[in-house]
Amino acid sequence: MILAIFQNFCILITGVVFVMHYLREKNLHEIRSPWFRFFMGVIAGGIAMVLLGSSFLVDPFRQIVLDFRYVPVFVISIYGGWISTLVATLIIAIYRWVINDISAVSTAMALATVWIGLFYSVVFSLRKPLLLRVSLAMLVHTVIMYFASYAIFDTSSLRLQTLMIHLFITFVASYIVWKYVEFALGEIRVYQRFRSEATTDYLTSLSNRRKFSHELNAAIHRCQRKNETISLLYLDIDRFKAINDEFGHAIGDDVLRKFAGVLLKTCRIYDGLYRIGGEEFAVILQDCPIENARIVAERIRQNILDFEYSLTGEANVTTSIGVAGYITGISAEEMMGKADDALYQAKDAGRNCVYVASMEEKPTNVHTKDDDFAIHTL
Ligand code: GH3
Ligand code: MG
Ligand code: MG
Repeated sequence: MILAIFQNFCILITGVVFVMHYLREKNLHEIRSPWFRFFMGVIAGGIAMVLLGSSFLVDPFRQIVLDFRYVPVFVISIYGGWISTLVATLIIAIYRWVINDISAVSTAMALATVWIGLFYSVVFSLRKPLLLRVSLAMLVHTVIMYFASYAIFDTSSLRLQTLMIHLFITFVASYIVWKYVEFALGEIRVYQRFRSEATTDYLTSLSNRRKFSHELNAAIHRCQRKNETISLLYLDIDRFKAINDEFGHAIGDDVLRKFAGVLLKTCRIYDGLYRIGGEEFAVILQDCPIENARIVAERIRQNILDFEYSLTGEANVTTSIGVAGYITGISAEEMMGKADDALYQAKDAGRNCVYVASMEEKPTNVHTKDDDFAIHTL
C-alpha cells in the first residue's frame, strides 16, 4: 500500500513539475487573465483524472480504493480562484460520473465533487488570511465527504475509517504540493527577474543593447520572410557632457530618465525602444516605411526640445537623430551602420536635427553636411 501511495504521489508531483516548468516562460500578468485561469483549471482537472485512473487499494480485504484527485483542486483553488476551481471540479465530476460508471455511488461522488468545487470557490475568494481559508476549506471538505460516504458504505466504522484515511492522505499531500508550488513560484519569480534585468537598462527601464541587437536581427528576418518593412532611428543627446559638467551626474541621470520617458510617450506601444550607450538610444519602428520614420523622428526631436527638464538657466536638452530604412537583403550591422552615418551627418550639420540615410545599398561611413538625400531640420 505504501508503495502504491508513493507511486501515485510521484504521478501527482510529475504533473505539478510540468506545470511549473511551463509557467517559467509565462508572463505573470498573463497568468491572471480569466482564460489562463480556465486553462489552468483544465490542467488541474486533467491531472486529477490521471490520478483517479490510477487509484490505490488501501484495504484489500474490504476493497477500499482511494486516490489523490482532490489535491490538484485544493492547490489550484489557492492560486487560480473560482474559475480554475470550478473547471477542475467539473472535469473530475463528469469523468467520475460518465467515464467510470453511472451508478448511485458515482452520482454521489460526482455531486460531492461539485459541492467541494463550489465551496472552495467561495472559501478561497474570501478576503481573510490564507491559513483561515485553508482551514475552512479543510472543514468544508470533511463535512461534504462525510455525507458522501453514506452513499458508499453501510457500516459507520467502515465509513469513518475510510474517511479518516481519505482526509489524511489528501491533506498531507495537498500541504506538500502547496509548499512545493510556493517554493517553485518563488524560483520562477527570481528567474524571471534576472532574465528581465539581463535585457533591461537599469537607469531608464528601456531595453538594453543586448536586446536591441537581438530584436533588430529578428525584425530584419521578419521583413525578409513576410515582406514587411521597418525603420531604425539612432538618437544621441547633444552636448550631454556639458549637462553633466554643469549640473552634475545625478541631474544628468535624471535627464536620461526623462528623455526615455519622452520616447515612451511619443512612440507606439509596439515600437522597440532601447538605450544602446551612455546617452545614445535606438528605436525600431515596426511596419514603418522611411518617409513615416522621418516624420516620427521629427516628432521625437520636437518633443525632446519642448520637454521641461527643470534645468536652471539657458540649458536646453536637444537630440540629433539618424534614420535608416529597411532595404531588401540588408543585414542588421549594415542597417545600424546606415543609421549611425545619418546620425553623424546630423551632428555635423549642427545638431538638433534629423538626417535620413540613403536607401542605396551600403552605409557610406562618410559624414558630410550636404548630401543630396539628407533631409534636415533645425
Ligand atoms: P555630442 O553632441 O557630440 O554627442 O556631445 P556629447 O557631449 O553628448 O558626447 P560625448 O560622447 O562627448 O559625451 C557623452 C557623455 O555622456 C559623457 C559621459 O560622461 C556621459 N554619460 C554616459 N553615460 C552616462 C550616464 O549613465 N549618466 C550620466 N549622467 N552621464 C553619462
Ligand atoms: Mg554619444
Ligand atoms: Mg551626445
